[in-house]
Amino acid sequence: MVEKSGASGGTNDRGRVAWFNGRILPERDVRVPFRDRSFKYGDAVFDLARTFKGVPFRLVEHVERLYHSLSYVQIDPGISPKRMLEITHEVLEANRGLLGPHSDYWVGQRISRGLDPVDGETPEHDGPNVIIECTPIPFLSRARGFRDGLNVIVPSVRRVPPDCLSPRAKTHNYLNLVMGDLEARARDPEAWAVLLDVNGNLCEGLGSNIFLVRDGVLVTPRVDFVLPGVTRETVIGLALDAGIPVAEQDTALYDAYTADEVFLTSTSLCICPVREINGVAPAASAVPGPVTKRLMDAFSELVGMDYVAQYLAHLSPTAGQAREPAGSPQKATA
Ligand code: PMP
Repeated sequence: MVEKSGASGGTNDRGRVAWFNGRILPERDVRVPFRDRSFKYGDAVFDLARTFKGVPFRLVEHVERLYHSLSYVQIDPGISPKRMLEITHEVLEANRGLLGPHSDYWVGQRISRGLDPVDGETPEHDGPNVIIECTPIPFLSRARGFRDGLNVIVPSVRRVPPDCLSPRAKTHNYLNLVMGDLEARARDPEAWAVLLDVNGNLCEGLGSNIFLVRDGVLVTPRVDFVLPGVTRETVIGLALDAGIPVAEQDTALYDAYTADEVFLTSTSLCICPVREINGVAPAASAVPGPVTKRLMDAFSELVGMDYVAQYLAHLSPTAGQAREPAGSPQKATA
């Protein structure tokens, strides 16, 4: 088999760099040893913000959430939040020039507990492994969601309950959400899974929060059962500013099936309308419905660019496509 990384220069990272335990390196030289506990157990946390026209949005909030996740799993990264922010800006600066047209980055941090030592041997690296990186957002593979609305499927797999592992911490252990996603994508390769919690209420998906609009009220599951999405908080703020009432409450499938509008939020998606959930279309005749559209417009205004147009630009035959490898994952966690 042909060696595809390292000195052979076979990676396709377009020259991006990342910060790895104190140094900015070409991505291909960031090598986490196989005894790292993140690889073995998912024993790590991460957070990702996104850029709009190369400028990070709500990075401070993302770094705050990162440190909450670190406290929850009791990992000390050995770096202050202030320094983490500074390095994140440095990494973004180093990669900014590589952004293609209509493109933007996820920019974030990944911190594992470190290596499991072998008895009697000195580990090659002591303490946590810290990576700060930029990843191009897969606009092309997600753009159809903005044209047609997303197809949401609720799989049989339930979300791990908060008394087993808090969903409020963003850890590298996504297998529960991955299992839900596999089930949904087996039915429709473009579907987005939204899992139920163990009580049978709507919960969240692999990288997204869910919102319904019912009788003019914006409804979303309580934060006790979901990751407190930075986008979720942003959208709640935009709704309240626009005089749209918000209810954070247990949300049954019944509520979704009888909703006027449904949408998902995440760092990369911002707000993306849902065209059907388990084959049931929301009552509003348009996708996005009027309240969703209002919030999407407000979101674009807040971030200083038309983020929907940025997605849709990738559907035109001339724009952006060359920048994104065909194998880009359709789903990611933000
Ligand atoms: N839930 C989960 C499980 C997630 O991984 C994400 C992505 N971070 C979200 C919700 C949405 O959060 P945010 O808006 O901060 O991206």
